[in-house]
Amino acid sequence: MSRELFKFKGGIHPPGHKDESNSRPIHAAPLPKRLVIPLRQHIGNPAKPLVNVGDRVLKGQMIAAASGTISAAVHASSSGIVSAIDMQPVPHVSGLPDLCVTIETDGRDEWTDHAPLDYQAMTPADLRMQLRDMGLAGLGGAVFPSAVKLDPGAAQTCPTLIINGGECEPWITCDDVLMRTHADDILQGVAIMRHLLGSSEILVGIEDNKPEAIAAMQTAVARMDFAVEVVTVPARYPGGGAKQMIETLTGKQVPSGKLSTDIGIQVFNVGTAYSLARAVHHGEPLISRLVTVTGHVLRPQNVEVLIGTPMHTLIALAGERDGTTGVLMGGPMMGVPMPNLDVPVVKATNCILVKSAELFPPLPRALPCIRCTRCAEACPAELQPQELFRFAKADDFGRAQEYHLFDCIECGCCSYVCPSHIPLVDFYRYAKSEIWARERDKRASDLARERHEFRQFRQEREKAEKAEKLAAKAQAKRAELAAAPAESSNAALSEADAKKALIAAALARAQAKKAEATPKNTDHLSPDTQREIEEIEARRAKIRELARKPLESEEKT
Ligand code: SF4
Ligand code: SF4
Repeated sequence: MSRELFKFKGGIHPPGHKDESNSRPIHAAPLPKRLVIPLRQHIGNPAKPLVNVGDRVLKGQMIAAASGTISAAVHASSSGIVSAIDMQPVPHVSGLPDLCVTIETDGRDEWTDHAPLDYQAMTPADLRMQLRDMGLAGLGGAVFPSAVKLDPGAAQTCPTLIINGGECEPWITCDDVLMRTHADDILQGVAIMRHLLGSSEILVGIEDNKPEAIAAMQTAVARMDFAVEVVTVPARYPGGGAKQMIETLTGKQVPSGKLSTDIGIQVFNVGTAYSLARAVHHGEPLISRLVTVTGHVLRPQNVEVLIGTPMHTLIALAGERDGTTGVLMGGPMMGVPMPNLDVPVVKATNCILVKSAELFPPLPRALPCIRCTRCAEACPAELQPQELFRFAKADDFGRAQEYHLFDCIECGCCSYVCPSHIPLVDFYRYAKSEIWARERDKRASDLARERHEFRQFRQEREKAEKAEKLAAKAQAKRAELAAAPAESSNAALSEADAKKALIAAALARAQAKKAEATPKNTDHLSPDTQREIEEIEARRAKIRELARKPLESEEKT
């Protein structure tokens, strides 16, 4: 009996454009002369560099360590010499540079020592720590550190494990092709996930527009010694979103502000399961991934790419064509425009989509909202996109949050159906980045203020202690002189000094007390904090500019 499926609200049916790239065999991208490897490729804290300029590194060697609980290590994707550790352009919506390690490759592609892990003999905590040090992060787009998601926490078990093979975004086929060609490896990864999460129900959700992938996964599942159910789900964007896949397969909704683990479900992308199997069974850290290169190229295809490879290498491999109008990282619905083609492939790069005027005609000029509510009907998160737009446009971020701005998954369904062609998602990104930036500004200034107040308090306390010591010394001297009346003139002098010292001590105590009781606001920021704030400001300005563009054209109408 087939599983009962549930329907999530909203969604759209954009043209798939999957056939362009899913029928060619996987190619390995050539080893580039230079790899530029960003240290911030995952959600959470950026990794901290472990190498210096001039060091020789080997393939798979850790070049930056995870920092804090939510983080992941970063590794050299090939052997060579570290030529720079500096700010470089990276694939990010802000278009701003970030800290990267540049490696001039030596062509030898020489591996560091690596060996499989006997994961069943390891404690779960040790295994998770090892996976963090191998740089594992979700490859479905969110790049959340996998070690964190593989911890069931206080519940000690996560009853349902969902493997997401939805890949609903148009043009992207890397998950489809991975399932067709590496179904057994994906399931090896699933076995490790099951081991860590203690899941009793395992579901693999795949959209019905991937029949070859479904067949390959079903064949592989039959060889497993534990139960895995491959479930075919209707293709409807954004059905491959984690929350939508959960609802389709189980009928359960993840409550606003909660995690799926709060309802006993964890979701991983098929690519993440594959990279987990490579890490455990081959000892390979996450240094490469499958990337779809498609759109306005001669040979759309899927390519196995070393992290850090410049994007232009892949476009050249797929056959560059005249008339390119831009490049997106990701698909047309959620993709991010690339500032230039020197930017590197990162762990989050599932697709490089080359645009042309024929494939992606420029959007008509944005018109005012006519409050038709089509956006609300299409929204899978059950939001009111027209209201979110209104509040974001007016910089009324408090109201935007009241309307659950942070439940928006930026799927783009609302923009897609909007008859006024308003780039709604740009406004939501702008509002979110403003809110985050303000929170970070506040945190940074609170921290700086606390540091300054503490320093002030310490200085005043030291001053008071010094004055107390002086006073005590003067008092002792006075007593000594009082015992010797012959030297009365000196005694009078010392008495005056002692008085002075006592007054100084009292003043210092009063100042210390004042500093403790009435701390002053200050903007004495450390260079690091200042740099962070400048970076935030620059990102905000860039996103604000992106969001504001359509407004100008709207005002002209
Ligand atoms: S679809 Fe566009 S025009 Fe219609 S209500 Fe939403 S934002 Fe306004
Ligand atoms: S982008 Fe956000 S508001 Fe728009 S449809 Fe998607 S979830 Fe809803």
